[in-house]
Amino acid sequence: MSTDAGDAEGCAGTFTNGGRSYAVARLRFQGADAGREPLRIGLFSGVHGDEPSGPAALQRFLESLGRDPGRAAGYDLWVYPWVNPTGCERGTRENASGKDLNREFWRDSQEPEVRILEAELSRRRFHGLITLHADDTCEGHYGYTHGRPVEDSLLRPALEAAERALPRDGRPVIDGFSAKEGVITDCFTGILSPPPRQEPQPFNIIFETPASAPLELQVQAHVAALDAILAAYRSHVSYAEGL
Ligand SMILES: [Zn+2]
Repeated sequence: MSTDAGDAEGCAGTFTNGGRSYAVARLRFQGADAGREPLRIGLFSGVHGDEPSGPAALQRFLESLGRDPGRAAGYDLWVYPWVNPTGCERGTRENASGKDLNREFWRDSQEPEVRILEAELSRRRFHGLITLHADDTCEGHYGYTHGRPVEDSLLRPALEAAERALPRDGRPVIDGFSAKEGVITDCFTGILSPPPRQEPQPFNIIFETPASAPLELQVQAHVAALDAILAAYRSHVSYAEGL
């Protein structure tokens, strides 16, 4: 495999596999000026190619912002709907090389998708990351924070908003981690995450829907969660600026 750094519109980078060329798609939505440096947020899905609700939700989210751009005022959204294009094409969790990309980040991985995304994460210096997944073992939606209070204050309204579409997973253990009201503060290592040395560290939230639920309801839950996180972070930043 080889990779090309992509500065082309719509593409974060390209690579070849099995004689075919693939692109890691990158879309951008710039909300109206809010009188400050725009808040750069990276939105990711399709890390696992067998979870179609995330990419469908990011497409739906962007379409809906086109009709109602006020929801993104003050934001500069960088959107990567298909992080794992070979897995998405095959409908497999892993990429074409058999690797789970969500165990490969910041570990000197040779996987081209990971190298392309690591370069993006370093270059963009996002204020926050939101990644959408679907889980075939859960009983409702839930999310991961990484133990920072701001992440907790963003995820909780997202879980509440998503309850309009799907129930929350209230079990004390989800995906092997202890959970409280659908919030997990621990995580696997090697997940898609900010550069370890970036300071201050951006927020990093993972939102998961139950993969067995109807696709349309998963999409609605994802979109409701995204809207809630953006609204909550805007309030958080305004409050911090007013102190
Ligand atoms: Zn996943």
